[in-house]
Amino acid sequence: MPTVTISSNSGFCFGVVYAVEMAESYLAHHPYLYCLGDIVHNDEEVQRLKQKGLRIISHSDLPNLAGETVLIRAHGEPPETYELALRYGIRLLDASCPVVLKLQNRLREIDRPDVQIVLLGKLGHPEIIGLVGQLEKAKLFVVSSPEEVDTLPLEPRKVTYLFSQTTKSPALFAAVAERLLQRCPDSIIADTLCRQVSNREPHLEAFARSQDVVLFVAGKKSSNGKSLFSVCQAANPRSYYISSPEEIVWAWLEGAEKIGIAGATSTPQWLMEKVKSHIEAHFATMVAQ
Ligand code: SF4
Repeated sequence: MPTVTISSNSGFCFGVVYAVEMAESYLAHHPYLYCLGDIVHNDEEVQRLKQKGLRIISHSDLPNLAGETVLIRAHGEPPETYELALRYGIRLLDASCPVVLKLQNRLREIDRPDVQIVLLGKLGHPEIIGLVGQLEKAKLFVVSSPEEVDTLPLEPRKVTYLFSQTTKSPALFAAVAERLLQRCPDSIIADTLCRQVSNREPHLEAFARSQDVVLFVAGKKSSNGKSLFSVCQAANPRSYYISSPEEIVWAWLEGAEKIGIAGATSTPQWLMEKVKSHIEAHFATMVAQ
């Protein structure tokens, strides 16, 4: 029977813990709560909270929610969302992560016409939408790879900054910074990566190496899930990405004596425990046969 271990450096970051606790404490006294977008990029956790009364909505629903209470999740929102809430008399429960709010403030502070900003991130990601919304005067370029930096129409006379979506990997950020400095040597490199994610990488790497097989548990839409999974995979090629226990292919675990379970900052502890129990029950059945 193999040993199954959950990595001690996995599971919710403080930003997600804060948002989920805020939702649960509200729902303890109210029948329902609206949340703008998935509270966390994990379908299982969203389902659990929906059963307690969480109702996921989109921005287009806001005009129909006058007088209601709406939760803003950890990713943060652009100023436009706050203006809409004011216009429609919506009460906001703001669970924007302080790390994201700090980055939004920094962008607002340098929002001038003589500034151009390169932002490492994924277009369309809610955090990026919130960040882009902070800027009115500066020129902004969102990139997802070092190669894209070469194609940007950068203006040599402008002050150039590099920022990053909080959940990107340090290696990718360093590669983008290097490319930008080749083009604009005076660029100001602002490392805005969240340490809740980047500090996990060395631990995760060591954990993945110490296991025969790693099951990485995260939602399909989790940005830091993909980033942290690539760390696992580089350290241990027998790493597999799953979103629920049912996705385990038992052939992956063949011959493994040590099975590791890890997760993203959006992966609830209970889900990793569920994966562990599922594996242990499977092997217990095999022993009994
Ligand atoms: S990963 Fe970091 S920035 Fe994002 S919600 Fe968690 S603590 Fe906040």
